[in-house]
Amino acid sequence: MHLRYFGDSVLRTKCLDIECFDQSLTEFTESMIKVMREKDGVGLAAPQVGDNRRIVIVLPPGKSKPLIMINPVVTSKSESRVVYEEGCLSFPGMYEDVARPSEISVQYCDLSGQKFELNAEGMLARIILHELDHLDGKLFIDHLHWWTRFSLTTQLRMKLIFNRG
Ligand SMILES: [Zn+2]
Repeated sequence: MHLRYFGDSVLRTKCLDIECFDQSLTEFTESMIKVMREKDGVGLAAPQVGDNRRIVIVLPPGKSKPLIMINPVVTSKSESRVVYEEGCLSFPGMYEDVARPSEISVQYCDLSGQKFELNAEGMLARIILHELDHLDGKLFIDHLHWWTRFSLTTQLRMKLIFNRG
């Protein structure tokens, strides 16, 4: 399992719901947690490791135990939005201000398929929204002004071309 970076088409795919909650799913999430920890991330979505299933890992601020969310769905979000600097493991070293709802409710299943509802605010809400975007092929740069996005992606594409040598 390895991280996928901007430019990889898997990051633009719409992920599918999980119907089978088995041991292989548990093992898959364990590997995702390992990748997230190795890269010092606070969240990771399945497409970032090349998988198109609706799985996200979220590390709540100040906690050491990650939250595993299967088939997560945002059920409500606040009108009020907060702007804060955001990064993404698929865009190393890149940070931009992104506006997101300050409070959300999210429904998800755990590894046994049991349903939960969680109310989150602040940084936790932001991380969850960022990771859930990934499941629909949406990236944090999509929230930026078109000009900022254009200049960032142009820089990234140039870097990719030069790295290929
Ligand atoms: Zn991300």
